Amino acid sequence: MAEGAPLFILDVRVDTVTFEQALARIQSFIADGRPHQIVTVNPEFVMTAQADHEFRRIINNAALSLPDGIGVWWASRRLGRPLPERVAGVDLVERLAVLSATQGYRLYFLGAMPGVAEQAVAVMRTRHPDMVVAGIYAGSPRPEDEDDIVARIHAQQPHVLFVAFGAPAQDHWIARNLEQLGVPVCMGVGGTFDYIAGIRPLAPTVLRRLGLEWLYRLITQPWRWRRMLALPRFAWRVLWCQRPD
Ligand code: UDP
Repeated sequence: MAEGAPLFILDVRVDTVTFEQALARIQSFIADGRPHQIVTVNPEFVMTAQADHEFRRIINNAALSLPDGIGVWWASRRLGRPLPERVAGVDLVERLAVLSATQGYRLYFLGAMPGVAEQAVAVMRTRHPDMVVAGIYAGSPRPEDEDDIVARIHAQQPHVLFVAFGAPAQDHWIARNLEQLGVPVCMGVGGTFDYIAGIRPLAPTVLRRLGLEWLYRLITQPWRWRRMLALPRFAWRVLWCQRPD
């Protein structure tokens, strides 16, 4: 299936790619060697980008803007431009670990609470023993720590950098430092290390397939209810403010 033109949901770009096409694009970025930013767009991203125009600019200029989150998939159908499938960041991290083991891609894990990324890497190593880890560092998104973190990562010359500082901080951080990092693939991954490490539960596959991950999150992380209000606000805006193509 050929890639279609990008879809714009409330002026936020989402690329109409399948999981395999996304992976092929990522491999082409690595082969190219120049730095590329990848964002994983969900309804919270779209709503944050309505007020945070720099965040919207980052998403719209990213090398790849992936349709993460069932809400984005739903909106694409509503707008008459159905996305082929959902491309979840957590699934991409896992597949890049497989490619790391076979192709030698060097992976760097930045962010999450101290010890969590180490734990996530240990779990991934049980599945992919030959995965190549260029570095692991909790760090912080604080501007005063930026130069030190960029120097650490640059010294290890990774092919892929996963940044888990939460959105939109991680995506701003990558955009600010992309050129100095010189890493071919830099991707914000949100709570992915927490899920892989097992300190936050990932929704069971059956619920993910049914598009009910948001309900599982609401039940298992009820303190996120305020953030999750972005979902009905998103649905409302898509229904009433954007005409189908
Ligand atoms: N995080 C961090 N430093 C910060 C803020 C957040 O390392 O200053 C980490 C946090 O520990 C978690 C990740 O960012 O591992 C993403 O958190 P969030 O709950 O925002 O995840 P999302 O909902 O975006 O998946």
